[in-house]
Amino acid sequence: MSEINSSPENKSSEKNIPSHFIRQIISDDNLSGKWEKRVHTRFPPEPNGYLHIGHAKSICLNFGMAAENNGLCNLRFDDSNPAKEDIEYVESIEEDVRWLGFDWDNRMYYASDYFDQLYEYAEQLVRMGKAYVCELSSEEVRKYRGSLTQSGINSPYRCRTIEENLDLFRRMKAGEFPDGSKTLRAKIDMTSPNINMRDPAIYRIKHVSHHQTGDKWCIYPMYDFTHCVSDSIERITHSICTLEFEDHRPLYDWFLDELNAYHPQQIEFARLNLTYTMMSKRKLLELVNLGIVSGWDDPRMPTICGLRRRGYTPEAIRQFAEMIGVSKKESMVDIGVLEYCIREDLNKRANRAMAVINPLKVIIENYDDSIDDELDATNNPENLEAGTRKIKFSKEIYIERDDFMENPPKKFYRLAPGREVRLRYAYFISCKDVIKDENGEITALICNYDPASRGGSSPDGRKVQGTIHWVSATHSEKIETRLYNQLFTKEDLSNIEEGKDYKDYLNPESMQLVNIYAEPMLKNAKAGDRFQFERLGYFCVDSKDSSENKPVYNRIVGLRDSWAKIQRKAE
Ligand code: ATP
Ligand code: MG
Repeated sequence: MSEINSSPENKSSEKNIPSHFIRQIISDDNLSGKWEKRVHTRFPPEPNGYLHIGHAKSICLNFGMAAENNGLCNLRFDDSNPAKEDIEYVESIEEDVRWLGFDWDNRMYYASDYFDQLYEYAEQLVRMGKAYVCELSSEEVRKYRGSLTQSGINSPYRCRTIEENLDLFRRMKAGEFPDGSKTLRAKIDMTSPNINMRDPAIYRIKHVSHHQTGDKWCIYPMYDFTHCVSDSIERITHSICTLEFEDHRPLYDWFLDELNAYHPQQIEFARLNLTYTMMSKRKLLELVNLGIVSGWDDPRMPTICGLRRRGYTPEAIRQFAEMIGVSKKESMVDIGVLEYCIREDLNKRANRAMAVINPLKVIIENYDDSIDDELDATNNPENLEAGTRKIKFSKEIYIERDDFMENPPKKFYRLAPGREVRLRYAYFISCKDVIKDENGEITALICNYDPASRGGSSPDGRKVQGTIHWVSATHSEKIETRLYNQLFTKEDLSNIEEGKDYKDYLNPESMQLVNIYAEPMLKNAKAGDRFQFERLGYFCVDSKDSSENKPVYNRIVGLRDSWAKIQRKAE
């Protein structure tokens, strides 16, 4: 997994050319008439956590393949493990899938809808002599199972009669036995090289309520049995899942063949791994529970609700899913690809604005502050329909501290003593003097402006090297803003060294709180509004911590496109 994939797999975006192997399989099936041209997929989350960007890949693939082929895609909750599941997760998943732009019409199902049918199928296996009630403890089961190099040993309960098994299984269902005392197991082959085939459990006893079925059941079907039977009941054609289920496919085949049930085709693809990004639901839950992040929707989280709150758009995420492609080979995608997609999307959609993060005061000595000077600024040079706005100029302005150097190197093209720069949409200014406090810290600059350069155009053809952003010190508003960095400092979190924990790689600088000085109109923005702050990046008004006329901004992404640079270098 060491190879980082920075180049999109589907370079060909020509219409009608399948650009990944799953598109190809579906198009071949449509040609051969294998499913009578039916394409019916499903997205099958377990409601035990919030969805993340990896799930988004699967959602876009399943709903996308169905849509491209005039097919259907179900939303199905694989809810066979009530102890870890919660209705809160069900609701968040619905919201996230819808927000991504997909619709399941009235086809929202729960695997628990099929518990009666699953039970029937299990009894059928018992009656066929293909399943038995086992009383080994979980520890004993592990011991009997063997290993990759050692074959397993038959359970002493394996040769029970059908009548005995049926009686015990029914009594399991009736609640006669405590948790963990018995399981129903498929009778397959304890010597199979595939450990999944060594008499896997089909049902376990769990005296817990279920968020959908309440107290109706005290036995619950195992995931592997539930999943393939649910796909079969829903008459799924292409059962798309991640690579780790390849080894489970023979078991799914066994169940469906033995039960003589409808049999979808399973297709495995490599899950999404992203640099610097934790993709395990269990660990994301831990980050929430330990208070390391403020919740599932903390804008640093790779969850869909976290990305949404940060300011990501569904269009950018769908574009990302298309760009990274689908393959059978495990790889690691550069987080820069995701950032590239949101920049591309917002470049056309987000209006520009000016704000200063780290202010340095500039006093314009020859400016007469008694005039009311309003300048025209373009809202979006990429979309002229977005129009223009007025911004006030004044004698005292703020610029970024970084945009001034007292002793600049040759290639520094911004402000320095004796040098001239353009203030965006305003005037040329040149630096006359530097004011310092008793510690030698620069507190302000004294500058002159050229009235003839109004609007930022050169009056006489003379050139300035740099253009910098600014805000009026008198008119600007101070606004709370959060700058984000990766939550982790380690590139490949799927590969943690012995003796280390993923939490050892938390980035202590993942969030920086600042007060920016901003154009006044930024104070009136509403939750979810997005802007490009010139030269600083894309920002979004936080949906949780903002109130009327008191927005809090999240930086979605900076402007520097590191990924595009990597691309250019590679070419
Ligand atoms: P769990 O360990 O809880 O099963 P999971 O991430 O597999 O975690 P599911 O709810 O089972 O969560 O996932 C729903 C669907 O999303 C599955 O079909 C799964 O294969 C797919 N999926 C999960 N993670 C990724 C990923 N990183 N990339 C692509 N698809 C993924
Ligand atoms: Mg899973």
